[in-house]
Amino acid sequence: MSNHFPVNRELFDDVMVPNYSPSAVIPVRGQGSRVWDQQEREFIDFAGGIAVNCLGHCHPALVSALKEQGEKIWHLSNVMTNEPALRLAKKLVDNTFAEKVYFANSGAESNEAALKLARRWALDNFGEDKSQIISFKQGFHGRTFFTVTVGGQAAYSDGFGPKPGDIVHVEYNNLAQLKEIISDKTCAVMMEPLQGEGGIVSPTEEFVKGVRELCDQHNALLIFDEVQTGVGRLGTLYAYEGLGVTPDILTTAKALGGGFPIGAMLTTTDIAKHLKIGTHGSTYGGNPLACAVAEAAFDTVNDPAVLNGVKEKEALYKAGLAKINEKYNVFKEVRGKGLLIGAVLTEEYQGKAKDFLTAAMAEGVMTLVAGANVVRFAPSLVIPNEDIEEGLARFERAVATVTNA
Ligand SMILES: *Cc1c(COP(=O)(O)O)cnc(C)c1O
Repeated sequence: MSNHFPVNRELFDDVMVPNYSPSAVIPVRGQGSRVWDQQEREFIDFAGGIAVNCLGHCHPALVSALKEQGEKIWHLSNVMTNEPALRLAKKLVDNTFAEKVYFANSGAESNEAALKLARRWALDNFGEDKSQIISFKQGFHGRTFFTVTVGGQAAYSDGFGPKPGDIVHVEYNNLAQLKEIISDKTCAVMMEPLQGEGGIVSPTEEFVKGVRELCDQHNALLIFDEVQTGVGRLGTLYAYEGLGVTPDILTTAKALGGGFPIGAMLTTTDIAKHLKIGTHGSTYGGNPLACAVAEAAFDTVNDPAVLNGVKEKEALYKAGLAKINEKYNVFKEVRGKGLLIGAVLTEEYQGKAKDFLTAAMAEGVMTLVAGANVVRFAPSLVIPNEDIEEGLARFERAVATVTNA
């Protein structure tokens, strides 16, 4: 086989399944919050690989953990345990409500484990009638068939045949609706402690506390999907700490590996015991390379200076976006928490979030969308303040282009 063929965006259409429509830009190198493409064009990264690259690109602590582990041992299978997995699990347990950890490779897999555990817990404790799962409209929990069905957008789960059953969706921040539906037949309520893909929607305090109370009243487990909000993203190690509500099961992925694929499900000993030997598993879950990188990411993020930095940088973004908005009047609202920020477009620009993303790319700044009406920012938690300022200046030029169009 020869390697002499052009590696470009056209090749994507030739050889890849068409479920994505990637940008024409192909980045080849990154350092901190800057990225360079095949033509050596430089971008500031406000996207963070969709809230994954919590320490930017090629952070020295992660590179060194990967290199070090890469020369020791790569993979063992769950027939044997390994040191990086044990160390990471110990740190997760010591720094959260949890007492037990299950490792997976992605957010969806972590949620799949959480849902299966909840169903098994309910079956063992209460019998097979207690199988209802309640989740929220616009919520996102991954793309396996179970998790996408629990997710709150039917369009993502339609068209694949019969769906996993006994799943009900209610409105986020609507406690009355939840109260009407929840019963002793409810096995679990699954929610994001801030809806990410659904448009950067924070829960009200009343809502999130009310959900916890209703779960307690009906012996239902509360599952927090912290795949996007976890590992410092909102300025606390996990979002539940900032909400004053403790879930029974928590899932974490995305930033957990800082760019290396890994996910985890955290829970208590009493609940975990229902995932008995042989009930669930994963070939790669707890892989030493993934756990070694995640341990380095965890150690680096779990530092008061980094977590306080997230709140300072949030203020910089919000002030910068407010200033842009004074001039161009394109945002109805700038919302979110920590470094998960959503700029909600005004009526005039409804459905146009992608136009802002495309224009921003042309000006040299990578952003995200959260639905059609929200421009999302999820940069590195340690993005230098100069990069925030320069990136916002570029983003302002993009806003100018879109508003002139
Ligand atoms: C991204 C995301 C997922 C899915 O994670 P994958 O690693 O893509 O499977 C699940 N839940 C939430 C809240 C997410 O943001």
